[in-house]
Amino acid sequence: MTRAYYTDSYTLQFETRVTAAETPDGRPAVLLDPVYFYPTSGGQPHDTGHLRRGDAVARVVDVIERESDGAILHILDRALTPGPATATIDRERRLDHMAHHTGQHLLSQAFVRVAEAETVGFHLSPQSVTIDLDRADLSPAEIDAAETLANEIIRRDAPVAVRFVTGEEAAALPLRKTPPGRDGRLRLVDIEGFDLTACGGTHVARTGEVGLVKIVRTERRGATTRVEFLCGARALADYRQKLDILRSLSAALTTGAADLPAVVVKIQDENKALRTELRRREAALLALEAEQLLAGAAPLGEARLVARVFTGREPDELRRLAGALTEAGSVVALLGLAGERTHLVFGRSAGAPGHMGELIRPALAALGGRGGGNATLAQGGGPAGDEAKVAATLTAAARELRQAREGPGM
Ligand SMILES: [Zn+2]
Repeated sequence: MTRAYYTDSYTLQFETRVTAAETPDGRPAVLLDPVYFYPTSGGQPHDTGHLRRGDAVARVVDVIERESDGAILHILDRALTPGPATATIDRERRLDHMAHHTGQHLLSQAFVRVAEAETVGFHLSPQSVTIDLDRADLSPAEIDAAETLANEIIRRDAPVAVRFVTGEEAAALPLRKTPPGRDGRLRLVDIEGFDLTACGGTHVARTGEVGLVKIVRTERRGATTRVEFLCGARALADYRQKLDILRSLSAALTTGAADLPAVVVKIQDENKALRTELRRREAALLALEAEQLLAGAAPLGEARLVARVFTGREPDELRRLAGALTEAGSVVALLGLAGERTHLVFGRSAGAPGHMGELIRPALAALGGRGGGNATLAQGGGPAGDEAKVAATLTAAARELRQAREGPGM
């Protein structure tokens, strides 16, 4: 079996031969010769594509290098028999992998030169491309410098060559990375005048094909830094999307892109000030409302009782109204909300009679709701209920309060 992708990463359509058909884990698979499909390895995902054998066409959905014998299994969506076949590798996906893999080598070497940071991990997927560097304290200036250097090598359009050496020869070369314990031949990827490293991946022929390397995010992870980057078409698509976002924000806020950060801070500050002012006015209104409710309140011994049903208000507002009432004197406030959702807030001043938590329990039960509280404040909500239904629970609670005060049998 010839790993043709080792020396030729541009042949994406080829005549091949199905040398064996297998079913690893019950899935149909074939072995090919030659092999141009890249198997998942070294941080680079497998190729996809299809195989045509006579009238039969099968999708190549996965490509795996079998550990036991190094055979490359092409997992298919349907079985194919041995014999000659025509293969096609999905072009966009492969070219994207090639650009990002060469981009990774450029960035890894750039970080060595700029920040003495070694790459200890590489991950490539349709969602993100990252390298992990063995330094946790990279400065923004170092990150920018590495990105700038990698892009300089792209503009230089340096040749990217593949060659094979023995382990002995490799030992004498200034390799960025040598795989441990590998006997026999080593495959080297050589970016002329910049980076030489052992690698099994597919690469572009010249650095210019990478187009652009753009770092989009860095994240400290323990003793390492994860650097997320984009190359070529993905970088362009990202730039386009971000410009669209900027344009729509600029239009919405009627300001230039450069002024957006300052405008957003100003809006946040104004928003905060408005909220504070709104809360102040709301509190004043609630105090006024509490005063009006108390003017018409019924006496409850030394205290006063306010029982009232509302609609179209928020439970939170009801709680603040109960607070305003109980602060205004010796008061028991039994407040209810009718509508799509019912809500009760029972509150009392420190010196007023009754245990609100105990008082609210049967009231909530009558509404089919849940909740509770302590002696001075209790609340809870239930399903929909009209004003009459909620008013009835408040009347019952008020009766209970008076009876408890006046004693049984009266
Ligand atoms: Zn590599």
